[in-house]
Amino acid sequence: MYVYCLLPFTDFPWCEKIKAALCNSFKLQKFRSLQLETLNATMAGKDIFLVMPTGGGKSLCYQLPAVCSEGFTLVICPLISLMEDQLMVLEQLGISATLLNASSSKEHVKWVHTEMLDKNSQLKLIYVTPEKIAKSKMFMSKLEKAYQAGRLTRIAVDEVHCCSQWGHDFRPDYKSLGILKRQFPNAPLIGLTATATSHVLKDAQKILCVQKCITFTASFNRPNLYYEVRQKPSNSEDFIEDIVKIINGRYKGLSGIIYCFSQKDSEHVTSSLRKLGIKADAYHANLEPKDKTKVHKGWAANEIQVVVATVAFGMGIDKPDVRFVIHHSMSKSMENYYQESGRAGRDDQKADCILYYGFGDIFRISSMVVMENVGQQKLYDMVSYCHNMNKCRRVLIAQHFDEVWDSANCNKMCDNCCREKLSFERMDILEQADNMSEKLTPLKLIDAWLGKGVSKLRVADVAPPVLPRDELERIIAHFILQQYLKEDFSFTAFATISYLKIGPKADLLKNEAHVITMQGRSNKKSVDKGEEEGEKSSELFFFF
Ligand code: ADP
Ligand code: MG
Ligand code: ZN
Repeated sequence: MYVYCLLPFTDFPWCEKIKAALCNSFKLQKFRSLQLETLNATMAGKDIFLVMPTGGGKSLCYQLPAVCSEGFTLVICPLISLMEDQLMVLEQLGISATLLNASSSKEHVKWVHTEMLDKNSQLKLIYVTPEKIAKSKMFMSKLEKAYQAGRLTRIAVDEVHCCSQWGHDFRPDYKSLGILKRQFPNAPLIGLTATATSHVLKDAQKILCVQKCITFTASFNRPNLYYEVRQKPSNSEDFIEDIVKIINGRYKGLSGIIYCFSQKDSEHVTSSLRKLGIKADAYHANLEPKDKTKVHKGWAANEIQVVVATVAFGMGIDKPDVRFVIHHSMSKSMENYYQESGRAGRDDQKADCILYYGFGDIFRISSMVVMENVGQQKLYDMVSYCHNMNKCRRVLIAQHFDEVWDSANCNKMCDNCCREKLSFERMDILEQADNMSEKLTPLKLIDAWLGKGVSKLRVADVAPPVLPRDELERIIAHFILQQYLKEDFSFTAFATISYLKIGPKADLLKNEAHVITMQGRSNKKSVDKGEEEGEKSSELFFFF
């Protein structure tokens, strides 16, 4: 990380100008944390990366300098919908901005090209997708001319984590953006993202051909969010009942989001909630654009209480008073979880993020991300987060984003900090490891372990364990995370199936002294009194 020493605000020649622009052009009173630092650095012509949680106010950090500078700012943005959201706001503020994409009319393109070179032009921001840079020679040649005429003042790369394969939304066309800094070395670049580890940032810096840069990182801590992981009830009716209890309890009449794994799940949950009198609506990628808008607007106006959505309900969601984000299934990565849960409590008032962890979801998501480069590792990081029952959730999240955090700062705003101290128990659960010559799905493996299911799969010498099924699921998941078991995928014409096989560390189990330690839940079920109550947990040791 870099530290940038700042002169007092008043010592920069542009300070009066940006203060005036904040009030007059953007109608805002004061800067939020890190905005001023970022503005000063980009106005000083430095290349910078700004890492700031979603909703923190990143756009202002290139929009305001654009308004205060000669020429125009080129903004690279991955989605048309994101650009449109910003353009709508800018238009209301009377700031001249536009976008170019594949469906822009010839006249519009021509107009933009003229404005790019016209030194009397008022046009301040030009939004384009990365494809435009990667594929349009015409546009590049216009940029070249504008640069030579001193009119390309600044380059903003929004959602800059899309450059890196290690980021969670990798976009191949972002790889071509290095051309910008190579061709236009004197135009300061600002890369913005809400989710980038230092690893991803370094990668992005390399891809964008930025030699030296300043990185500003805002804290990822959201002190007003309460984080909780719950065991997902196996029966879907119990599950819905659980959700309804909390929505009708402490969130009565309050706004929220439920994130689901699939379109089917979101429709199913929506209709179940509606039957029980909750104003819910589904939102997923297959809705008609007009229906998407209807749901979004109805929710924004509090006519719909709960949006039951897939990840399609995402970027651009900016409702301040979301009191709960419930995950019906875990996210496919910690980055995704952080972003999705982070839509709660934008108004800084207390809000809850409740994640329902289900064993079966591991394999549903795993089959979905099998084609992604690091998809499985990211999923396992998410599973580890769910499994963890003693470390502060804030500390776990901070670690993921390379931030150092003290659990004392949590103020008991997570389930693990509210939990009672762990008690220790020892358990023998298996006398011998089974050598698994058959291909087994996770479900079949547990059945076999319990002495149920197809008889040839059962292991003769192993007595069925006395633990409940969800405990066995936790153990299997732990074995996968620890590589005693591994997933093995099989592709059919209709689906991807995940089987479990002996993992690379399984040999260790032959050593009698090898002990596996994990946290388990005790059998005593805690009663949900509608308020948080720490679930009792105990440490289990397994012998083989
Ligand atoms: P990000 O890109 O970081 O997710 P945005 O730039 O979209 O966030 O900003 C989120 C919201 O915060 C917008 O509604 C914006 O108008 C608002 N905002 C940004 N800066 C300020 C500020 N200094 N004061 C008040 N509101 C702000
Ligand atoms: Mg943004
Ligand atoms: Zn905590």
